[in-house]
Amino acid sequence: MSNFFYRCTECGREYAILPDRMCCPHCSEKQSFNKPLRGILEVIMGGRISNPEDLFAFLPVEKTHFPPVPLDFTPLWQSSRLKEKTGFSHLYMKDETRQLTGSLKDRASLLVAAFARREGIKEITVASTGNAGSSMAGIGAAAGLQITLFLPESAPKAKIVQALQYGARVIPVKGTYDQAFDLSLAYSKKRDSLSRNTAYNPLTIEGKKTVSLEIFYQLKDIPDVIFVPVGDGVILSGIYKGFRDLKDQHCTNSIPHVVAVQAEGSSAIARAFHTGKFTLSPAKTLADSISVSVPRGGYYALKQLKTYHGSVITVSDNEILHAQKELSTTTGLFAEPAAAASYAGFLKIKGTLSKDQKIVLLITGNGLKDIDTARKSIHFPKNSISSLEDLDHD
Ligand SMILES: *Cc1c(COP(=O)(O)O)cnc(C)c1O
Repeated sequence: MSNFFYRCTECGREYAILPDRMCCPHCSEKQSFNKPLRGILEVIMGGRISNPEDLFAFLPVEKTHFPPVPLDFTPLWQSSRLKEKTGFSHLYMKDETRQLTGSLKDRASLLVAAFARREGIKEITVASTGNAGSSMAGIGAAAGLQITLFLPESAPKAKIVQALQYGARVIPVKGTYDQAFDLSLAYSKKRDSLSRNTAYNPLTIEGKKTVSLEIFYQLKDIPDVIFVPVGDGVILSGIYKGFRDLKDQHCTNSIPHVVAVQAEGSSAIARAFHTGKFTLSPAKTLADSISVSVPRGGYYALKQLKTYHGSVITVSDNEILHAQKELSTTTGLFAEPAAAASYAGFLKIKGTLSKDQKIVLLITGNGLKDIDTARKSIHFPKNSISSLEDLDHD
């Protein structure tokens, strides 16, 4: 049994894992307006675990506290048609569309919900562009917790409907995700409710690492390259954290090459990767889940990309739409635009990869969550028919 604690990703100070411990109090004093969060904490596993095949041994909350939902692995699958089309012989999709609420966000929500249950906390608050909110609403419902969401008005309708369907209290915010983030923090402090804001609550990063553990156990190896869509950079940090834990536990001896994929119109991490500085530019992309002006997990994501020699690329909205459609028509997998960014990124740089490498596309969310965007690349049939003869006049 290992003992878990928090360590600041900037100054290295260590803290106990407590409900009101979010960022490092020392480093968060350096926080400035409109910049990524300072003093993000990460969970450290003290000591070796005896049963690394049990994913729960890697987590700081015991399995008994998790809500009663399936906690199985999501599929890691290959499409022979996609392999033929691309010429790549080991091309895998990690299919997070199959999560309970349809996105990878469930991994973070599950750990936060389990923690709340263990600590006797009744309410969780979250700001979200859509998926983190609908995920926390669904997982929270399963866990019997009260969930309050702050959403930008522009969030896709399906995600709002999903959250309401699960019984969450939804507070639409005039303005962007960034404004929703600040309002939710003020609310959770006032109400003493647990914040699930991404990057801010260290358990969001920790929860997402399970995707790397699953990929490792499914492949029985680490992939050579993994494509990850990036907005706030928390999934990216979770991916690295999972592979680092596997390495620290002597299950593997290297870290895969991670390719971070951002939308051209929301590329704060890509810009900082090249210039070393985070500069503000309002996000504009149809891939709502990676539309982020201030990437909350930016410093930490950047640090890991640099340490492990990851790369960062950007794709245009048109490339995302094309990738989304091609993935659906080739494989049967309907990914939301942000999720299809992985495949768009792969298509963009596949000329630089070798065709026998083991490649994983992280497909982070389900296409049905945002049908308005998907409608941009399909033609709705115009006329209804009453007999087959009408078809000829089409
Ligand atoms: C949240 C999300 C992302 C991006 O994750 P970040 O941690 O913000 O980088 C990508 N795809 C989907 C579907 C998401 O919901």
